[in-house]
Amino acid sequence: MRQNEIIIIGAGIVGVMLALQLATKSNAKITLIDKNSAGNGVTKHSFAWLNVSYGRPDNYQKLRAQALNAWHELDKATNHDLNIQWTGAISWQESDEATLAFIQSHQAQKFKIEALSQEAILLKEPLLNSSPKISAFAVDEGAIDPIAVTNQLLQAAIKKGINYLPHQEVTALLQDDTGKVIGISTANTQYLADQVILTAGVDNKMLLNALNIDLPITISPAIIIRLKHEVFPSLTKHIISNPQMEIRAIDDQHLLVAEDYIDDAPENSPEIIAKNALKAIERALSPLAPVLSIDKVAVGLRPMPRDEMPIVGFLDSHQSLYLISMHAAVTLSPLISQLAATEIIEKRTEDALIPYRLSRFKITQQ
Ligand SMILES: Cc1cc2nc3c(=O)[nH]c(=O)nc-3n(C[C@H](O)[C@H](O)[C@H](O)COP(=O)(O)OP(=O)(O)OC[C@H]3O[C@@H](n4cnc5c(N)ncnc54)[C@H](O)[C@@H]3O)c2cc1C
Repeated sequence: MRQNEIIIIGAGIVGVMLALQLATKSNAKITLIDKNSAGNGVTKHSFAWLNVSYGRPDNYQKLRAQALNAWHELDKATNHDLNIQWTGAISWQESDEATLAFIQSHQAQKFKIEALSQEAILLKEPLLNSSPKISAFAVDEGAIDPIAVTNQLLQAAIKKGINYLPHQEVTALLQDDTGKVIGISTANTQYLADQVILTAGVDNKMLLNALNIDLPITISPAIIIRLKHEVFPSLTKHIISNPQMEIRAIDDQHLLVAEDYIDDAPENSPEIIAKNALKAIERALSPLAPVLSIDKVAVGLRPMPRDEMPIVGFLDSHQSLYLISMHAAVTLSPLISQLAATEIIEKRTEDALIPYRLSRFKITQQ
């Protein structure tokens, strides 16, 4: 029997995770193609906090909690080689009431979260200058180095036999006379496939435009900042998130900071946002903390579905095309790629993915 051929467009964390799942679960011939090299899309700029969400529909919060479990399982299955930092996350909201509501909402979903008193926070984070009366401690949350993990998983997928083609841009989806997608074109060649999978981040939109499908995502910029300091082990010990800052230590000389992108105005440039973030972090830390300076500032372009929830599945109008377009994809990728791999290989519906089809948006799919 002829081997099933699958092409995955885009080797970000989603495409790589899916390639590994498909290679583990099937003997299809799998090609993973990227216009750059693996992990160099928005994945490279991620804060990469593995977390559950808040204030979203129940089924989505459950999905995020399951995704966190999928990371814990992957960590075990890879003998902790991915070096996931399971530090837990300390967060608080604008008011103690809002923090309490946040804790209660997570507890209602059976998610492991504890309320910390002011004294307890300071025991956990002695260099915090001040903290509110109450904060939330998400025990099971953690973070990864997104580039290192993407590359480790890529090597595992290559060991399982996938064909990895970096530095080849897909210029079009190849269609037969009936309009069926039968492969892809690059500048130099064409590749035929039984199944084409789109994991091209923000570029999924452009690739689908050519099929007259208006993918309902926006390109959402966010700022990632790396601060440096003299060697100081565990400047912060947990992921810390509150209305003033989102930070985590990535080693004993650097802090990573995530900030919102406001607009293109010069006063909101990424460099100015970084300077303001630095000031806010200095104010939040005790004078015993080492001096911080800006090491690197970058903007990552996030694929953001219109309702901010994942878009996953075969396209109604093109059954040989499977699409994954999602935000918080670092957190979601192990779970979604497991579910998607089952749908792709076994051609059966995973109930957990039903709420996340493209068809929930009333767009034309010709
Ligand atoms: C500042 C910031 C903080 C974030 N924090 C978090 C967080 O804490 N937790 C979390 O879960 N998520 C976070 N995110 C979001 C997360 O980074 C993204 O959801 C995730 O990385 C998306 O992965 P992806 O594989 O879909 O996309 P990408 O990483 O962009 O991968 C797409 C790949 O497709 C390739 N490609 C595109 N077009 C083509 C083409 N035509 N031909 C061939 N290859 C192509 C690209 O080169 C790229 O490698 C954050 C993002 C930012 C910017």
